[in-house]
Order: sequence, then structure tokens, then C-alpha cells
Amino acid sequence: MSELKIDTRLWSSKARNLSPYVPGEQPQHENLCKLNTNENPFPPSPKVGEAIAKVLEQQADDLRLYPAPESDDLRAALAQLYDIDINQVFVGNGSDEVLALVFASFFLKERPVLAPDISYSFYPVYAQTFGIELVQIALEEDFSIDPDAYRQPCSGIIIANPNAPTGLLLSLADIRKLASEHSNSVIVIDEAYIDFARAVNDSSDAEISAVSLINEFDNILVTQTFSKSRSLAGLRVGMAFGNVSLIEALTRMKNSFNSYPLDKLAQVGATASVLDVEYFTQTCQQVIDLRQSLTAELTALGFDVLPSHANFVFARPKDGNANTVANALREQGIIVRHFDKPRINEYLRITTGTAEQNSRLIDTLQTLQKEAEIIAD
Ligand SMILES: *Cc1c(COP(=O)(O)O)cnc(C)c1O
Repeated sequence: MSELKIDTRLWSSKARNLSPYVPGEQPQHENLCKLNTNENPFPPSPKVGEAIAKVLEQQADDLRLYPAPESDDLRAALAQLYDIDINQVFVGNGSDEVLALVFASFFLKERPVLAPDISYSFYPVYAQTFGIELVQIALEEDFSIDPDAYRQPCSGIIIANPNAPTGLLLSLADIRKLASEHSNSVIVIDEAYIDFARAVNDSSDAEISAVSLINEFDNILVTQTFSKSRSLAGLRVGMAFGNVSLIEALTRMKNSFNSYPLDKLAQVGATASVLDVEYFTQTCQQVIDLRQSLTAELTALGFDVLPSHANFVFARPKDGNANTVANALREQGIIVRHFDKPRINEYLRITTGTAEQNSRLIDTLQTLQKEAEIIAD
């Protein structure tokens, strides 16, 4: 990018003091193998495109009008999916927006909000945006979350489950424990990856999503997104599930900021996606299978791979030279994510691609290893 000269003289001190989130890059080269931002390798349900096309062909005139402010059809479909009340469902322009409203609605208090030290890096950004103190609670040595470490006064707790970038899953028993020990705080479970969390070959209907707890705990709020498991990162739809009082707080906050966060096409497309249960179930299973084979193949190459419950793996190359590996892959047109942060700088976060993309990754890693051996000899 060319160097722009920015004059901050007219900025508020708020704008001056922000340190915005830096999303994973979205390069546009051809033949690029993009395994860096946890997008789904499969296209969205064909029903999504059909529903949007139908609006454009038959009701384009409706785009003149404002969309349904509370996205009623979409919320009804989501309520039905989880067998809850429509008033327990909130939707927003991507779960990032939902999370921003969550911080403003529940965490803007005297006490700090607690989050794992290694987690979604947007949480500290929201905290800073709203002037909220965020206390980071260290993950255990094996990167797991110990609910006992959260026993301190707080306005709330936010945990990504499965966690990012580790991919590890916190049990519902631990979430219950957090919720009962902090009955005066909001426990936010960010389930961006929950649809990939079912154990391999687990055909039981044992619950893994904390949405199953919202009738029992009035202080659990669960956020999810259409960006990962529904292949709709470009449509920008996220949601929250919780007790009606929590949802009402979010709705008030939304209506004090932007009453129409979801445009008509997003509402229609997202609703079509929810209704196509079969496609969703099938593609989630394919992603899970691909993640498992990717885990096995990386392990065979000497990587140390955490047991992932998401659509990515968190893996440490044999010598811990993650940054070198990431750069070498990039030269071959394969982009993975490396976080230059203490404790995790020897790891790579690799999104599972299609079978073809995964084999290209594995083949390239193999070649790189052979070259390194020749140089070493
Ligand atoms: C991707 C992601 C989000 C954001 O999802 P959007 O709906 O695309 O804004 C939120 N939380 C976590 C942990 C994520 O990985």
C-alpha cells in the first residue's frame, strides 16, 4: 500500500488511542491456497444463492425499503433449530458486531472482564474500544482452560469454545461450573466453531453447545456465526442465544447504534442456510473428516498437533521453527497463520482446506523437509 500521510489533529482522543484488530490477510492471487482465516473450504448451501437470486429477480423493488429491523424470519428459523423462543435469539452483522454489542451491554462496569490469555484477539480490542479492563487468565500448560482460575470478581467472562487458536473444547460441565460460581456476571461462550466440535464418529445426541444451558442459567450468553460452519463469511451474519433479558439488552444496544444491521439479502440468504439442514450436516462432517486426516498427516511429518474440535489445527513443527515454515509455505503460494506471541510463536494455525488443498500443503511440507535434510547433510 502506498504511504498515506494521516493527520490525527481532528481525531477524538478515543480514535487516537484505538489499536484495531488486524484480520488475517485476504490476498487475491490465483492458485493461492488460503488456509489462514478459517473460512470453510466448501461453498454455502445452493439454497442461499437461490434465495438471494429470487429476491433480486422478483422483489428487487423491495430493496427500496428498509429491511425487517429485527430479522424476524431469520430469528424464527434459528429459534426452531435450537427449539427455543424467538425472544432468546439475537442476530447481528457478523458475530464480531454481536460481540461488540455484548461488551457494551454487559461488561461496561466497574469490575474487569476475564478472558483466556490465548484466545480470539478481538476481545482485548473491544475492551479497549469501550474502555473496559480485561484481565487475561493464563491457559494451563497444555493450553486447556481451568474454570477454577476464573474465581475472582468480574463483570463477566468471555471464552471461545472451541478456543481459538488452540481448537480445544471446554466441557459443558465446566461451563455450568463457571455460570453457577458467577451468578452475577454474564458468561459469554463464543461458539464460532462449535459445529465442528462433535467427536469423530459420535452419533449420540449428547449436547456440546452451551445453547442447551440458556434455559437453566440466566447468565449464559452464547454467540455463533455463519462465517465458518455455514460458509458465509462474506454475508456477515452472527447471532447470540440467551435468556430474554440478555437478548433485550443487546436489542436496546443495537437500536441505539444501528437499527438495521442485517440487510435484506443477508436475512434471506442466512434463513435459507438454516433451513437446509441436510447440506449443513453433510459439509460439517466433511470438514471434520478433513481436519482429522490433516491432523494425522501433520503428525506423521513430525508436527505436534493439538486435538482440534474446530475447522483448523494448531500445530508445532518438529523444530518449533513455525515462522520459517510459514514463510517457506508462502513462497509456494500456501498461506497459514502464525501468531508472533509468547507461548504460541512455535505454532501454526492451519485451516483445513479441501482434500486437494490439504494434499498440496502436505506435499509441500514434505518437499521442504527433504530440502532441509539435504542442506543439513
Ligand atoms: C471467526 C470468529 C468470529 C467472528 O465471526 P464473524 O461472524 O465473521 O464476525 C468470532 N469469534 C471467533 C472465535 C472467531 O474465530
